[in-house]
Amino acid sequence: MEKIAGSSRRAIFQQEDSIADGISMIQAEDRLSSNIYVVEGKGKEASEKEIMLIDTGDGKTDIARIIGKKPALVILTHNHYDHSQGVKEEWNVYLHPKDFEEREFAYVPKNAKKINFESIIFHDFELESYNTPGHTPGSIVLLEKKTRILFSGDTLFANGCPGRTDLEGGNERDMEKSLGFLETLDYRILCPGHDQIERKER
Ligand SMILES: [Zn+2]
Repeated sequence: MEKIAGSSRRAIFQQEDSIADGISMIQAEDRLSSNIYVVEGKGKEASEKEIMLIDTGDGKTDIARIIGKKPALVILTHNHYDHSQGVKEEWNVYLHPKDFEEREFAYVPKNAKKINFESIIFHDFELESYNTPGHTPGSIVLLEKKTRILFSGDTLFANGCPGRTDLEGGNERDMEKSLGFLETLDYRILCPGHDQIERKER
């Protein structure tokens, strides 16, 4: 299947273990899969720490085995299968209401719940959620306030590459507006849905 992410530029696949304290990325074995971000809550032992996932990959990599537990919370940046197919039945999963529609390349997990919050507090982390349509109508980005990390899904990639708008549900005008909005956000690190992360110069 073709790569549905967005950027035509293909960056070198690299493993970025720790992005910030408590936040890391799992790069799936399958190159078509999305990046999977792991946010780790507090706890003395690794086994006690609750985990939140942002995106789950295409399911070819067993994320549950890698993290060694059921995540407490899972947020999907949009409904494309390369981000959502890694979801397991018993997980607590959230997706934007506008992405519950079945479209080409979409996979809506049966257990997905509609995002009904503007921000979410997970242990020390506070994430603001914004709907940024263009790649899909229900695409979201998440801004973590303490670390100033922006999880941008397939809306924006490193080097300023915008996401694709030519797939079903995509919209170029919406994408332009969404990218304009992202420019107003104060973030230090861009964590996109594919390829490498990007640290902003200060
Ligand atoms: Zn996508």
